[in-house]
Amino acid sequence: MPKIINHRKMRKQETFDPKEPEDVDLQTIQNLRRRLQLGTKVLCYKYKSELIINHDKKTELEANGKFAIPGRDIIIYVRIYYPFIQRARSTLKTECGTLLKLNNITAILGSQTLADLRDKIPCIADHTISKECSTNLDNAIGPMAKDIYKSGFFFIEDTFYNDTRCPTNVDYSKVILDWAKRRPKLGPFKTASMEYCRLDSLFLRFGYPWVYKHQGGCEHLIVFSDSRLINRNDDLALAAYPQIVRIRPTGSKFCMICTVYSAQWITLEHERIPHNPCYFCDSCFKSFNYIDDKKVGNFKAYPYPRNTELVKKIINL
Ligand SMILES: [Zn+2]
Ligand SMILES: [Zn+2]
Repeated sequence: MPKIINHRKMRKQETFDPKEPEDVDLQTIQNLRRRLQLGTKVLCYKYKSELIINHDKKTELEANGKFAIPGRDIIIYVRIYYPFIQRARSTLKTECGTLLKLNNITAILGSQTLADLRDKIPCIADHTISKECSTNLDNAIGPMAKDIYKSGFFFIEDTFYNDTRCPTNVDYSKVILDWAKRRPKLGPFKTASMEYCRLDSLFLRFGYPWVYKHQGGCEHLIVFSDSRLINRNDDLALAAYPQIVRIRPTGSKFCMICTVYSAQWITLEHERIPHNPCYFCDSCFKSFNYIDDKKVGNFKAYPYPRNTELVKKIINL
């Protein structure tokens, strides 16, 4: 079988080489010529990679009469990182761990709890629906992982702050505590409930990385980066916090068939496609895999997880 050329890995310049055809005088060519003459001016900002999100202040009705007091209440900024895989010393050098990447910066009030912070941390692992739905696409709509698996903890200084809001939650810290007991150099550690821990009651080092763990093995680093007294220029409504104030945009996953629209479906073990997994947009997925709503061939299909709330917010900016 001939080797398939991976066009997605081709350099952009090779794919979209802006060479001028000589014998045509189209308006588009004139525009291209003008653009090439001007050149592209790249501005360099310190926070170029981060988008500042401007939130509208909450109305009286939304605030429900609950306001922070300027000069007395504190506001804390927390840097939330994407989950990462640490490379163990024994792993092969060809297998690399993931790079540490900032996801967003969240502002939270001192009077709020770690559970409030947890509910605001966006993670794709919370939005997955691990149900195979190739034979019935209606199965794709269902509860998300965050609605079913609600366990999680923060590890800050020497304490595991577990989420105990739901009685069926698993104590993720127990296995670590048992493991640490056998190592006299580690610990002692404490446990507490995150929903009872106010941010202003914490004793912690700023700028030091702490851990947030959820969905079994999804680990994020979090860093408390700054704190100050709230003032009249801030939104004083308690309902406005926790609030994502800066976000680092990431590239979307595109459909591997048309490479135009963003991915909405993932297939595994597809017998007619060389990619495993393969990402599809909605129209490519349905036109390639179904005839009269009947599945063609063997494959497993899953909906692509996405944080729809956040997407809506960014679009409305
Ligand atoms: Zn996560
Ligand atoms: Zn497509």
